[in-house]
Amino acid sequence: MKKTEPPVKKVLVSACLLGYRCRYNGEVLDKREIPEPDAAVIPVCPEELGGLPTPRPPSFFEDSHTGADILRGCGRIVTEEGKDRTAAFVEGAEKTLEIAKKTGAGKAYLKERSPSCGCFSVYVKERCVSGIGVTAALLRENGIRIISVE
Ligand code: SF4
Repeated sequence: MKKTEPPVKKVLVSACLLGYRCRYNGEVLDKREIPEPDAAVIPVCPEELGGLPTPRPPSFFEDSHTGADILRGCGRIVTEEGKDRTAAFVEGAEKTLEIAKKTGAGKAYLKERSPSCGCFSVYVKERCVSGIGVTAALLRENGIRIISVE
């Protein structure tokens, strides 16, 4: 009888944590250890998936409305010059969720403090505050476990 292989566990990971050059300022971070030796790691950068280039001007939440509010149409994500980037961030979140659904990933390791990937804290202008990134919020709302990585 043919032996069936157990399904491979899949996890999404913020691509910048894996050494990809996708951060807003073009900086390459040291590659982080993801504690999932048996899992297939799927790198995602929601901001690039949303069509933003690297490097790109930094973006932040305009006021106390963060990721979960943005998904409900409240608040904006803007650059220092006041350019509205909200649509790109939402598109990146939706494409990331699509990848999670297609691959069956049930977990995501995400870079803290990013307006996309932050799980507990994000920037409102230059202030770091409690809040959640747009992608982190959408994944969480769809039952994907989000894990913050510094
Ligand atoms: S924190 Fe998220 S959106 Fe920002 S560069 Fe890393 S993967 Fe891309």
